[in-house]
Amino acid sequence: EGYKQFLDNGKTERECVERTVSMAQAAGFKPFVRGMAVKPGDKFYQVNRGKAIMLAVIGRRGLAEGVNIGAAHIDSPRLDLKQNPLYESDELAFLKTHYYGGIRKYQWLSIPLELHGVVIRKNGTSVEVRIGAEPGDPVLAIPDLLPHLAAAQSQKPLGTAVDPEDLNIFIGSRPYAEAEGSDRIKLAVLDLLNEKYGITEEDFLSAELCAVPAFSAVDIGFDRSLIGSYGHDDRVCAYAALAALLDLEETPARTAVCMLADKEEIGSEGVTGMQSAAFDTFMSDLCDAQKVSLKACYEKSFCLSTDVTAAYDPNFPEVYEKRNSARINYGIGFCKYTGARGKSGSSDASAEVVAMVRRIMDDAGVIWQMAELGKVDAGGGGTVACYMANRDIDTLDAGVPVLSMHAPF
Ligand code: MN
Ligand code: MN
Repeated sequence: EGYKQFLDNGKTERECVERTVSMAQAAGFKPFVRGMAVKPGDKFYQVNRGKAIMLAVIGRRGLAEGVNIGAAHIDSPRLDLKQNPLYESDELAFLKTHYYGGIRKYQWLSIPLELHGVVIRKNGTSVEVRIGAEPGDPVLAIPDLLPHLAAAQSQKPLGTAVDPEDLNIFIGSRPYAEAEGSDRIKLAVLDLLNEKYGITEEDFLSAELCAVPAFSAVDIGFDRSLIGSYGHDDRVCAYAALAALLDLEETPARTAVCMLADKEEIGSEGVTGMQSAAFDTFMSDLCDAQKVSLKACYEKSFCLSTDVTAAYDPNFPEVYEKRNSARINYGIGFCKYTGARGKSGSSDASAEVVAMVRRIMDDAGVIWQMAELGKVDAGGGGTVACYMANRDIDTLDAGVPVLSMHAPF
């Protein structure tokens, strides 16, 4: 139930960070400031630009002996608004989008959408937007073609049937009463936005607004055995990695670190992605306080790169290789490697690392399975694992098997 609340309150990376901060503060975590003393039992967090967050529980042993890291990502595939999004066409108003991450475009038509994000005005003040999230709110939607007139479209391949430039979100059809001429629908929408949020059309230029599905997390199945939601990838692992730190009852031997990264879905690039030096800066600030070199800490550290994996789906057996697929009810899936086209983009963990994790899981009575994503060359995917491994940190991929990965629900 706690995870479902995390999902419903975190539909963007910014919202996940906010929620994480409040959970961490309630558990006694303090914001870390460079220069602070770092002693066993201390609990710190540091937010990177509101979109990624790092937390640490300082262990009894020094940082020279390495740390244990649980890394996950809190961004999910969605439709971002373009920087000039608003237009009117034939007396209907729409928002232009640019999809973020790997989506199957047809899945985003004819479903209720919410609009989440921030608008930063030129003077630096910000407005938080959450349209559709509160009871009684309107939602938005991208209309789909009616089957009666879809004869030609239905002949197109699935991947190209929906042009990404047609993923335009309907937002209004009522004209502005006190105006004559063209664009009266657009004007009326702008009037509403100005009234509710104090923003003008120009403010879209410096906004990060995301259309996300308007579904709440809910149990699925007569037996309620699964959870249906937007954003399992990768908030399920983020929540687990976070809970691992929040639930620590005593000071661990090794320092425990939780890294919740942004931008994984578009290659872990940018200042808030896993490739950013922000993680190294946080870790080296901690190390400096104990007069330990960051490199010495990294080479003895271990990271579970936690990200969802594909659960075997009997409706699509042709893309899975059954002997090596993760299955529902068989526990967390460990992936020695991910990647595509011959493991490209994968860190391919050492056999020694896999053996260590096997031993730890079995000693602790944890149910686990070894998995890879699907058939060789059926496709593939990456995680943040290679960016951790590139830092000289032993890393293994691990994650919850999910059905319908990257779908709106
Ligand atoms: Mn993921
Ligand atoms: Mn993903």
